[in-house]
Amino acid sequence: MQPDAAEPGRMQEFAEALLRQQGALVEPIEPEGLEVLAPPEVQHALGVGELARLGFGTTLPPAAQRVGMESDWLDRFARLLGPQGRRSRRVLPLTGKAPGDPERVLEHELVLDNATFRLLEVTPAWTRYLVMDFRASAVSDDKRDFMLRVGINMATGALPDTVLTAIGPLIDHEETTLIMPDNADPPAIWDRTRVLGVLARALPARLDAALGPFVKGLRRRLGRDQDRLHQYHNDLYCDALRRAAVLPEGDPKRAREEQRAAAIEREYRAKLDDLARQYATRVTIEWVQTLELIMPVHRFAVQIRRRKADRTIHLDWNPLARRLEPPVCEATFSAERPRLVCDDALHLVVPAALAACSNCGRAYCRACHAEACPKCGAAEPARALSLGNWAGGMPRL
Ligand SMILES: [Zn+2]
Ligand SMILES: [Zn+2]
Repeated sequence: MQPDAAEPGRMQEFAEALLRQQGALVEPIEPEGLEVLAPPEVQHALGVGELARLGFGTTLPPAAQRVGMESDWLDRFARLLGPQGRRSRRVLPLTGKAPGDPERVLEHELVLDNATFRLLEVTPAWTRYLVMDFRASAVSDDKRDFMLRVGINMATGALPDTVLTAIGPLIDHEETTLIMPDNADPPAIWDRTRVLGVLARALPARLDAALGPFVKGLRRRLGRDQDRLHQYHNDLYCDALRRAAVLPEGDPKRAREEQRAAAIEREYRAKLDDLARQYATRVTIEWVQTLELIMPVHRFAVQIRRRKADRTIHLDWNPLARRLEPPVCEATFSAERPRLVCDDALHLVVPAALAACSNCGRAYCRACHAEACPKCGAAEPARALSLGNWAGGMPRL
């Protein structure tokens, strides 16, 4: 759908189709115009009011704004088209690939330090992934951009970042289609609130991992600069005190040296503050694109056993990556391994999510008790990004 510069009629058609697709009510008016009742997002992207008239010809309808190639309207339409253009969907009807030795695949991928498990069955199934890319920028005395990929398996709830990163380049070599095969039975797409809820919890750990080396380098340089600052001012300060010490009490020269020492100390503190400001890091994160990927997998049903309790979970084996996806940490959504199993609900969590309470020392599961320790009530809410700019550009699901 590209507007053609030479034909005002084509521009009008393009605008009409785009506006309808974006949920606006559109009525053609004479001559060569559109009357638009725009929802808030459309108003915002186009910079128009709720009710707007657009004109495309040489003669404008009454009270209409002129829309043409020479104006900034293409930018405005691009803004409106933006998120949709960065959202794609592919169906990958793969056949024939199955895990060779499911028992071994499972032993290799699932590491539980305090529970046993057993493979119940492996069945062919379909899943739907939402693969989302984000740009994270860290700005201090230096600026760095990082790409973060978070993928959700909407059948199992797994966040198989590694598997989805591995299949990224492979997808382009596979036949994909936009049409779902008859035998496909993917899980329903999650609603936006549920996706954003998972992302808000999943992004902090991934951000830490991505920014780790950058922050370490920053700290090293900050430490070096602080040392240098200290050394320089300390030498001056000591010299001034030494000079003061050899002069008699009440000598104006002695008072001057003491004042000089105090001024050096003040300057040192101010320089330290400057340094802290210079190295302060601001991190922003912004959604870039989403791929919805629908494909067949092999679904492992796994029984987890801890003491006298048991629970069945599902893990998907991805035929393109030829890998089993690890289970999500139900408390932190982080990708690190291994997993421990909690006593009460048999949640699979990272060891830190079963750690002792920092107040009373009692160990508890952060998936069972997300906000506070069940024994003493000390609040330890899970880390989550607030809904800042990162989700702003994400289209509706
Ligand atoms: Zn406690
Ligand atoms: Zn639990």
